[in-house]
Amino acid sequence: MARLQLDDLTKVFTDDDGGEIVAVEDVSVDVPDGEFLVLVGPSGCGKSTTLRMIAGLETVTSGHIRLDDRVIDERKPQDRDIAMVFQSYALYPHMTVRENMSFGLEESTDLPDEEIRELVTETGEMLGIAELLERKPSELSGGQRQRVALGRAIVRDPEVFLMDEPLSNLDAKLRSEMRTELQRLQEDLDTTTVYVTHDQTEAMTMGDRIAILNDGKLQQVATPLEAYHQPANRFVAGFIGEPSMNFFEMEVQGDQLVHSPGGDASAGEFTYPISTDTREAIGDSVRVTMGIRPEDVEIVGAAEQSRDFDTTVDVVEPMGDENNVYLTFSTDSDRTFVATVGGMRRVQEGQPAVARLPEAAVHLFDGESGEALKNRSLETAEMTEPEV
Ligand code: ATP
Repeated sequence: MARLQLDDLTKVFTDDDGGEIVAVEDVSVDVPDGEFLVLVGPSGCGKSTTLRMIAGLETVTSGHIRLDDRVIDERKPQDRDIAMVFQSYALYPHMTVRENMSFGLEESTDLPDEEIRELVTETGEMLGIAELLERKPSELSGGQRQRVALGRAIVRDPEVFLMDEPLSNLDAKLRSEMRTELQRLQEDLDTTTVYVTHDQTEAMTMGDRIAILNDGKLQQVATPLEAYHQPANRFVAGFIGEPSMNFFEMEVQGDQLVHSPGGDASAGEFTYPISTDTREAIGDSVRVTMGIRPEDVEIVGAAEQSRDFDTTVDVVEPMGDENNVYLTFSTDSDRTFVATVGGMRRVQEGQPAVARLPEAAVHLFDGESGEALKNRSLETAEMTEPEV
């Protein structure tokens, strides 16, 4: 167990023409002892490169990696006391499960054979693969192989686990089971873990905290709920949450926001009145992006307030427990946004509906930088919890 610190970590690759590819730029994260940190972001954002630098499989261009205050970025991978679990499992096909799990310990420690045997048997039991120890990887299912790959990391009792999309080769049901199992395992072992995924659901459900990367740059490090309700910027707001947050480009005009598609305010098909507090939060920004989560868009009987808008139901996606309802403004049938309503609610495609966009639930981001100017009120989030 250890505290892992990344200080201004940067990785620059050189392409075939001598051009520079900045894969990771000035990433700083402090991972306390025993934390499960999920590194999440879209494909190519630098997640794997960051993990590979921590493991020692990739050199660091600048910055440092510290394990309990010891700088480790010059150490060989085998001298870092870090175990990595790969997406591909990377098992040796000619070795049995037991041999795969023992191999690292035999190479890197002086433990007697009998002790290694015991450790592997114990870990096999913990992971429910004790009866598979004499099989070869080709005789295992995907889920079983995944457990062996985990077991191989666990027997080494490292200071840190690194996991690179370890569940992505499993089917949806097994993935969800393994998610829970992995979390339980990590809690029991209490080993500092950095887990890479591009799947925001995995990040939300597994991480003590999540670190969101985009284009090599760290966007926010926060608990899942903080990232969801208090995103640092528009990127995080759009990346976390499914279906995504609805965004509207708006121009600030006194005490209202005017939707201005393509920057043409005169073509704006809806105006949104704002309170004094919101106006203050906007400061000098001239253009803002207004965001609202689908579950915060209410479908009401009739337009009663200035934040109620006439829409038409375009498409209804029944999800069972809830419906995703795609709406278009009556004044602009090209602009679709989504509301999530209860699964038993009857909403008909092609029918008119009134959408209420409550101000307390609205997020505002600067139109240029994307930085959050105002996030939704959390008190209201509690108040709008469904009644039980
Ligand atoms: P994915 O989810 O698709 O695996 P990722 O977030 O893990 O993506 P990385 O694999 O870390 O992303 O890649 C980050 C950037 O660095 C990408 O633009 C990638 O093309 C580039 N890159 C990665 N490895 C190399 C390399 N060896 N040489 C040159 N460029 C590289």
